[in-house]
Amino acid sequence: MSQRPSIITPPPGPKAKALIARDTSVTSPSYIKEYPLVIERGDGVWVTDVDGNRYLDFMAGIAVASTGHSHPKVVAAIQEAAGKFLHICGTDFYYESMIALCERLSTAVPGMGKSKVFLTNSGTEAVEGAIKLARYHTRRQKLIAFKGAFHGRTMGAISLNSSKPGQRAHFGPLLPGVEHIPYSYPYRCSYNHKAEWCQVNCECATKLETDWFLSHFLPDEVAAIFVEPIQGEGGYVMPAPKFLKDLRRICDQHGILLIFDEVQSGIGRTGQMFAAETLGVAPDILLTAKGIASGMPIGAIIARESVMTWPRGTHGSTYGGNPVCCAAANATWDVIQPLLPKIREVGKTLYEGLTTLQKKFPFIGDIRGTGLMIGAEFIHTDKRPASDYVGKLEQLAFRKGLLLLSCGKSTIRFAPPLIITEAEIKVGLEILEQCLTELGVPS
Ligand code: PLP
Repeated sequence: MSQRPSIITPPPGPKAKALIARDTSVTSPSYIKEYPLVIERGDGVWVTDVDGNRYLDFMAGIAVASTGHSHPKVVAAIQEAAGKFLHICGTDFYYESMIALCERLSTAVPGMGKSKVFLTNSGTEAVEGAIKLARYHTRRQKLIAFKGAFHGRTMGAISLNSSKPGQRAHFGPLLPGVEHIPYSYPYRCSYNHKAEWCQVNCECATKLETDWFLSHFLPDEVAAIFVEPIQGEGGYVMPAPKFLKDLRRICDQHGILLIFDEVQSGIGRTGQMFAAETLGVAPDILLTAKGIASGMPIGAIIARESVMTWPRGTHGSTYGGNPVCCAAANATWDVIQPLLPKIREVGKTLYEGLTTLQKKFPFIGDIRGTGLMIGAEFIHTDKRPASDYVGKLEQLAFRKGLLLLSCGKSTIRFAPPLIITEAEIKVGLEILEQCLTELGVPS
C-alpha cells in the first residue's frame, strides 16, 4: 500500500498562518507565493508542513527536486563536501568536484562533439552568460527568441522572455537586438494551420527563411537562436517534430548558434539526460540548472569547444560551481542516470492516467509532454483557456494534500521528483480526479 497525503489541520494551519504573516511584512512583494504551503521538511516525494500536514509533491519546487527532497546520497555528498571546504572560487583555482562535473556535462549531449563547460549559480545566469558567449563568438548582435519563452529574470534573460508581460513591464530599456518569432504550437498552430497539418509541415522555423530574413533582418546579423526545446513556463509545449530540425538546418546554413535552454527540460526530466537527445537535435550551446543538483544553486553553459572561444578573464563568477553544489550535482547525476528508463515508464503511466481523466472531464484540453514533463491544458467549452480554473484547482489540490503548479495560460505542469513510483503517480491522479469532480466544469 502506497503512502497517502495526510491533512490533519486544514492548511494554512496556525503555525503556517503565523509564519506567513511574518513573511509578508518583510519579504519583497514581487514574490508570487502560489498557495500557502509552509514547508517544515521534505522526504522523497513527500513534503510536511509546519502544522504536520503531509503532501504528495507533483511539482518538485518547479522541477528542481529531481532526486526527491533531501535524497540521502545527495545530502551525504553535501555534508562531506561542506566538511572539507566551502569555497575557494572555481574561476581562479581548481578542485576535483568541479572538474568531475564538467567532465560529465561535456560529454552528456549526443551530437555536440567535444564540449566545454562554464558553471553558474542559476538558470538565468546561464542564459546571461550564453548571450555574452554568442555575441563574443559570432561578433554579431541580434538574438532570436520565441513567443511564449521564459529564460529567467536578469536583464538579458527578460529581454528574451515573452510569456508574461509583467516580467518585462517598466524594466526597460531592455537588451536591443532581440526578435521574437512564433514558437511551434502544433496543437494550436501559430500560423493558423490545422494542428495535424502543422505536426508534419510546421512552418514556424522555415518562416525565418521565407519571411523574417527577407523582410525584417538579415541572417548574418543574428548571433543566436535561443529556444526551449520543450517550452516550460509558456505551458509545457512540445514543438512539432520538424521544428527543431529546421532550426538546426537554418543555423548551420547561416552561421547562427543554436542555443537550447534546458534549464527546465534537462537532467532526466524527459527520460534522457537532455531533451536534445529525446528530440534528436544537437545544439551548439546547451544551458542547464534546476534539477542538476536537486535544489542546490548551480547551473551550466555547455558549449561546443569550437564555440567556447572566449579567452581568459572574459567571463567568470565568484560562486559559480561552488564545491558544495558541485558535490550535490555529481551525486544527483549518480542517482538520475540509472533511473532514466524508469522515468519514461512512470511518465507513461502519468500520461495515460491523464488521458483517462480527459475522457471523463472533457474540459481537459491538450495533454502533452514526455517523461515526467507533462502539461494538461484546461479549457472552456468554446476552447478558450480556463485560466481561473487552474488557480482554483491548485488551491483545492493543495487542501487535499497534492502539490500542483500551473504554467502558460491554463496548463497544469506535472513535474514530480524523478524518483516517483507508479503507485505514487496513481495516488496523485486519484486526488486530481476528486478535485475535478468537486470543481466541475470551468465557468
Ligand atoms: N530558463 C528556463 C527554461 C526556466 O524555466 C527558468 C526558470 O524557470 C530559467 C531559465 C531561469 O532559471 P533560474 O530561476 O534558476 O534563474
